[in-house]
Amino acid sequence: MIVKPKIRGFICITSHPDGCAANVQEQIDYVKAKGPVEGGPKNVLVIGSSTGYGLASRIVPAFSSGANTLGLFFEKPGTEKRTGTAGWYNTAAFEKAATAEGLFAKSLNGDAFSHDAKANAIEIIKNEMGPIDLVVYSLASPRRIDPDTGEDYRSVLKTTGGDYVNKNLNTDKGEIEEVTIGPATQEEIDNTIKVMGGADWELWMNALDEAGVLAEGVKSVSYSYIGPELTWPIYTDGTIGMAKKDLEVVCERLDSKLRNKYNGSAYVSVNKALVTQASSAIPVVPLYISILYKEMKAKGLHEGCIEQIQRLFAERLYSDEIPLDESSRIRIDDWEMRDDIQAAVAKSWDTISNDNLADLADFEGYQQEFLKLFGFGIDGVDYEADTDPETAPPSI
Ligand code: NAD
Repeated sequence: MIVKPKIRGFICITSHPDGCAANVQEQIDYVKAKGPVEGGPKNVLVIGSSTGYGLASRIVPAFSSGANTLGLFFEKPGTEKRTGTAGWYNTAAFEKAATAEGLFAKSLNGDAFSHDAKANAIEIIKNEMGPIDLVVYSLASPRRIDPDTGEDYRSVLKTTGGDYVNKNLNTDKGEIEEVTIGPATQEEIDNTIKVMGGADWELWMNALDEAGVLAEGVKSVSYSYIGPELTWPIYTDGTIGMAKKDLEVVCERLDSKLRNKYNGSAYVSVNKALVTQASSAIPVVPLYISILYKEMKAKGLHEGCIEQIQRLFAERLYSDEIPLDESSRIRIDDWEMRDDIQAAVAKSWDTISNDNLADLADFEGYQQEFLKLFGFGIDGVDYEADTDPETAPPSI
């Protein structure tokens, strides 16, 4: 099959198996070039391991400390007539590269919120891996079905106050327009917390603990975002921010439990704003990211998921002393939040319009990264050549 990008709003409905493989290989090469992470984990479970921050969190331990990995995600396999989702092909490439180096790499495609997913993962860990020394929880999901009640919760991206009016980049048209985001009801806030808060992370950790598959010294980490004040109404103070606050509350509980029982620890790491399938769906954020990229690239500070997670492992999670902020969070958004970067972004934000978009923002870079998420626009990939849409992770 010859595969071309078909973009529909903030999603691309096709993905390229060879392009996704090249994207994964590029990340592996980066991690190898950075060298080993001393004291890094050896037996890792990544929940949400197929794209974005979760994929990078699988690649880094595998190729910097030789970790065996079990990855869990929700992706669509390809068929003879239709391409699968990018995470499916990313995982196929990851597994092949990891097993070629003698590393254990198995994956589960299913709903992380279900009892089945937890039971299946525990069975593999018990029978084939041995105790887990790192659990990464990197889910970004629009809904969660409660496995006990069957209730279907949907998350929303709204404010928790009044209307929020700001600039927004219509990524289809490449034009700036004004967007108004209205306030959520209490029920919508509660539902977003149910989906994107810490409840399921805690269920996972409890299930792993009860099954006796956590190792002495085990660490667990989940990801959050804070960003500048201009995005607070829609992010930090919005519905998603309420869910992230819940994540922090759960983290504190998990941390004390892991410390007491395993001499372990749990962290929320605040990461940089990046183009991923999840972030492209948040209003206002794509314009902020485009301006941020411009400023960070100009100062040689730009990072993608793999650079962020490599630094998180090497300079935070597995460093002698883990630096934490006043709320006990890891900050790997430190370069994004530097005063000089944020001052420059704020200045551009005030004056940006359709007339100066190309000067003040890196929309081209945004678009390139967006296409890359689906395996398109990557050097060395022949997009006119036949590719196999039925490429699949060997372990599934
Ligand atoms: P992503 O969309 O790239 O990845 C989401 C992952 O979750 C995928 O592997 C997907 O298959 C999996 N998933 C979704 N629903 C699932 C389900 N029901 N069962 C199993 N797997 C499921 O998203 P991302 O941007 O990498 O986000 C990961 C985490 O990082 C999120 O918590 C997000 O809030 C956080 N974060 C993202 C950014 C950013 O700018 N992208 C910044 C800071 C923090």
